[in-house]
Amino acid sequence: MTIEDELYREIILDNYKSKKNRGTLENATLKSEGANPSCGDELELFVELDGKTIKRATYEGAGCSICCASANMLCDAVSGRDLDEVRDVLRRFKAMLLEGGDADFPDELSDLEAMEGVKQYPVRIKCALLSWSTLELMLRKNEDAPQPGAQ
Ligand SMILES: [Zn+2]
Repeated sequence: MTIEDELYREIILDNYKSKKNRGTLENATLKSEGANPSCGDELELFVELDGKTIKRATYEGAGCSICCASANMLCDAVSGRDLDEVRDVLRRFKAMLLEGGDADFPDELSDLEAMEGVKQYPVRIKCALLSWSTLELMLRKNEDAPQPGAQ
């Protein structure tokens, strides 16, 4: 195992163990559930929107280490970011796991690259993507919903 693999493994483990983003969010504007039956992962994602910015995101549920680590990373990555940036991060994360090629994240999000190794285990890709797909769906639904004041 290379030093890089070791480092990535540690980042994933730290994110898995972290309780920082775990729990329901009282002021959640949006919430959405996601499941990955092939592994048994189930989670619920909570997002508090402030205009076009995600003020805070949390998750709750039961999942494997990859699923929970990825959800924790997601909450860190999107909290405090505006929706256009969030969509960009989402696109990059999915591309990293589904399209191959090198991961390309801004420096402050470089931890997300730790998930790239999951690509070698196709059955785990869904675990890593569960929270991200859930977020994507949630944001799309929110976009389609009539905005207050709109005709
Ligand atoms: Zn899983």
